[in-house]
Amino acid sequence: MTQFSLASLYEISRRWSQRNSPEALTSDIPIKQLPRTRYDGNNSYNGFSADERKRTEQVMQVLRRKGFLSTKAGCSLCGSTERTQFHAEDYLDPFAATPICGPCHMTLHQRFNKPNRWLERLDRFSDSPFIAEFRVLPMEQVDFATWLRENTDGPHDPVRAVWPDRDIPDYSPKAKPLPQAATSAPKTSMKAETPRGPRPPIGFFQCGLEIGTRLTFRPAPEEDITVHTNRTLLWRGRELSLTALTNSLAKEYGVSNDRNRHWFVGDVSLSDIYDATYGPKAASAEGDISDA
Ligand SMILES: [Zn+2]
Repeated sequence: MTQFSLASLYEISRRWSQRNSPEALTSDIPIKQLPRTRYDGNNSYNGFSADERKRTEQVMQVLRRKGFLSTKAGCSLCGSTERTQFHAEDYLDPFAATPICGPCHMTLHQRFNKPNRWLERLDRFSDSPFIAEFRVLPMEQVDFATWLRENTDGPHDPVRAVWPDRDIPDYSPKAKPLPQAATSAPKTSMKAETPRGPRPPIGFFQCGLEIGTRLTFRPAPEEDITVHTNRTLLWRGRELSLTALTNSLAKEYGVSNDRNRHWFVGDVSLSDIYDATYGPKAASAEGDISDA
């Protein structure tokens, strides 16, 4: 790793930032507080803590909504336009991110443990116009955060990078810690206040989720899992029911296949969303989230 230089990583980040043209941001974006983070991982990267990464992701959400960040060009590695996300190396600059699809993104972040999967992917998509940028990424964790703070000009803060003169409060949850989607679930399905017998199978749309909404399997938060239809999820290109996927993941990660414990949407448990949608569990009902 002696050949690797953090300056070259900075150069790549500058390119990503320029491609997203921060110059277009000429006036203050109106904002009351940062949105709730969608990053639910707990891992540091490039010397940035999970909390620092969350803060940047919150700012990026605002930039995406305002059209300053777009994934329209598709994955900059494989070209896929499905479920495109952003990948960042420099979390001090919220513009410094490149569009990337879920599978490429997951493989990128797993490269320290599964280097061959990443290197194979680089070979497979060596025609990408941006392949050189991805080949620069080091194969071991680096402390890019410290390097950036010592070698570049400030503000060294993703919020100040967008709102240089303002203090923006962090997200604070409203009374009920449920996502917007879940609280706006159809009220008709809430009538079961004293439910009898088993509750209905989970319908993701009834629960206020949408196609593409990301679900997290807590024992393996890096797994990319999204809502595919009202009754199925998409994982590694496969369409599976919640039960089938829970069983597969439980086996792979050696954990229990308890649907109620492991699933989250952001920081809200799917079990709570299910309860909010279909009413509380009847004393006689077996199990919790029904999926059949
Ligand atoms: Zn891709």
